[in-house]
Amino acid sequence: MIEKNKEYILDIVGQGYEGEGIAKIDSYPIFIQGALTGEKVKILAIKANKNFGFGKLLEIIEPSEERVTPECENAKRCGGCSIQHMNYKNQLDFKFDRVKDCMHKIAGLTTDLVQYPIGMETPSRYRNKVQLPVGMVKGKIAIGFYATRSHNIIDINKCLIQDEIADKVAAITRSWMEKYKILPATTDGIFDPKGLVKHIMIRKGFKTNEVMVVLVTIKKTVPHINEFIANIRDNIDGIKSIVHNINSKDTNVVLGTDFRTIWGAEKITDYIDEFKFNISPVSFFQINPVQTEVLYSTALKYAALTGKETVFDAYCGTGTITLFLGQKAKKVYGVEIVPEAIENAIENAKENKIYNAEFLVGTAEEKIQELLDQGVEPDTIVVDPPRKGCDIKLLEAIAEAKPKNVVYISCDPSTLARDLKILTEKGFKVGKIQPVDMFPHTPHIECVVKLKRK
Ligand code: SAH
Repeated sequence: MIEKNKEYILDIVGQGYEGEGIAKIDSYPIFIQGALTGEKVKILAIKANKNFGFGKLLEIIEPSEERVTPECENAKRCGGCSIQHMNYKNQLDFKFDRVKDCMHKIAGLTTDLVQYPIGMETPSRYRNKVQLPVGMVKGKIAIGFYATRSHNIIDINKCLIQDEIADKVAAITRSWMEKYKILPATTDGIFDPKGLVKHIMIRKGFKTNEVMVVLVTIKKTVPHINEFIANIRDNIDGIKSIVHNINSKDTNVVLGTDFRTIWGAEKITDYIDEFKFNISPVSFFQINPVQTEVLYSTALKYAALTGKETVFDAYCGTGTITLFLGQKAKKVYGVEIVPEAIENAIENAKENKIYNAEFLVGTAEEKIQELLDQGVEPDTIVVDPPRKGCDIKLLEAIAEAKPKNVVYISCDPSTLARDLKILTEKGFKVGKIQPVDMFPHTPHIECVVKLKRK
């Protein structure tokens, strides 16, 4: 046990799933954000639960050789990139250990199936989309990110995981608001109905360099909006679309339902490999374009298609992976719960001349079962669920379908391991597990897994 509000000097013996350092007093674990394995640190106990505690890092007495000084000047305050004090190799080692640990402890698999994570050559400025909250903080306009576990906005001039365009759009928005006395919709973290601007969103096509800027306000009328448009249009290279979105609700959801294109096109385009995609303000599109190609090509390699197969792509979003599968298979069925995503998927397939893809709106668990009931026999099933993993009904349907191969793409190693255990019990053998680092400087890790029917 530890005692709250007391200081301790501790040795860090491991890294938790969120990248926190772990120290132990007897067998009682204490989680310390910002500490690394092998370090001796001074902490303040901030929480003492029955089975574990939390400490605030006060001082690093003996630093690890893996520690780097983050390039980002906001690293200590920003809630965004929580492991940037690890050098990049150490970040990949940490993610490798994390995936192995889940596979061993949760799935009961041997860890030699886990491959070393594929990292980025240049792990900076990798994102193609950002949503920056705008607020009044201590009498000044702040545009940036939320501080760790809070709704306080930190004003950020430079975010090293975003494209430089995002820094520029934020600066233009800030000076436009200051010049015309346009107020943010929050003041010191509290919703302010007298204010106006809530968020600014920026998307950029990685291969096309086309830029979309979305101004989110809580009211329809925006004074001096033409000056905003002119400043963006004249100063942002590649600007193709400026959209005004109205969201009057005081919730965490960024975009409202009312969109107006106030300059240029309604959508921008981008390519993944040679496939072209239209991107609207609401489209789901992987945020790290360099690693998306790595992820999808790994999935495709694991699917090992010859051109004769029938393939199911569950959780297909806007049909990105579906098109790659379609190009290599006889027939592919994409299933997705969001109707708008399916509309995009159908458009994307047409635009890219993929004629053997069929898309179904509904839950993967229901629609896949329906396809099986209609007598469709899949050779390969690809799943790419959200963090909570697959519904048990879907795993049962996969077992009933008896495909030769299953490819599981996952953004959460814990739920992945849980589902792999179930699939193993239902007659599949897990092959390679390939982590891909889609989110450098954060603890997140994506995995692609190949399974074969026993
Ligand atoms: N494969 C896509 C999208 C993956 S994100 C890509 O790589 O771009 C996961 C998707 O699953 C989201 O589009 C989400 O809307 C969808 N989804 C969530 N729950 C679902 C369910 N029960 N059935 C089908 N789709 C679901």
